[in-house]
Amino acid sequence: MARRERIGVFGGTFDPIHLGHLVAAVNVRHTLALERVLLVVANVPWQKEGERLITPAEDRLALVEAAVGEVEGLEASRIEIDRGGESYSADTLETLRDARPDADLFLIVGGDVADELVTWERPDVIRDLATLVIVNRPGTRSSRAWDGWQVERVTVPNLEISSTDLRARAADGRPLDYLVPAGAVRCIRERGLYAPG
Ligand code: ATP
Ligand code: MG
Repeated sequence: MARRERIGVFGGTFDPIHLGHLVAAVNVRHTLALERVLLVVANVPWQKEGERLITPAEDRLALVEAAVGEVEGLEASRIEIDRGGESYSADTLETLRDARPDADLFLIVGGDVADELVTWERPDVIRDLATLVIVNRPGTRSSRAWDGWQVERVTVPNLEISSTDLRARAADGRPLDYLVPAGAVRCIRERGLYAPG
C-alpha cells in the first residue's frame, strides 16, 4: 500500500514573511517527513482585523512566493485568498481534506498561537482533521494539555524575528536584509510596500 501523503499547513498573515517562518517550515517538513508544507496566506486575518492596516493579500502572497521560490517542498498557497472573506483554519483544512481525502494534514503553529487555538472557529474540526504541530518561538511557551488532540512538538532554531518588528524597522528606514529572504526584500522594494510614511 502506498504511503499516505503528508501535508503541512502553515497559516499566517505573513505581513511580511521572514526567516522565522521559513526556518520553522523547513525544519517541521524535515522532522515529520512531510512531502510539502503549504504557507497559507490569510485573506482577512480575523484576529488582527481592525487593529492595524493589513497589507493587501495579493502583495503578501507575492512576498511568500518570492521567498519560497527556490526551496524544495515549500509552497505558497492562495486557498484562503480564493475563498475570500475571513480566514479560518477549519475551512482551509476541510477544503484540503476534500481535495486530498488520502492525505494526512499537519497544522503548524508557533508557541504564541497554540494556546489560543481553542478560541478559533470550530476547533473541533481542526482537532478531527489534522495533527497539531507546535514549534517553539522565543518568548512564548505553550503549556496547555491537549486532551483528545494529536500533537507533535517540533524544536526549531530560535529566531527572534517578528513581522511586527520588521514593519517597525521598515517604517524607520532600517534594513530588513537577512531577516527577510533577498527575493522578498526585492519584491517589497518593487511594490513599494512598508515604505516609511
Ligand atoms: P505579527 O508580528 O504581525 O503577528 P508574526 O511574525 O507573528 O507577525 P504571523 O504571520 O503572525 O507572523 O505568524 C504566522 C505563524 O508563524 C504563527 O503560527 C506564528 O506563531 C509563527 N511564527 C512567526 N514567527 C515565528 C518565529 N520567529 N519562530 C517560530 N514561529 C514563528
Ligand atoms: Mg503573529
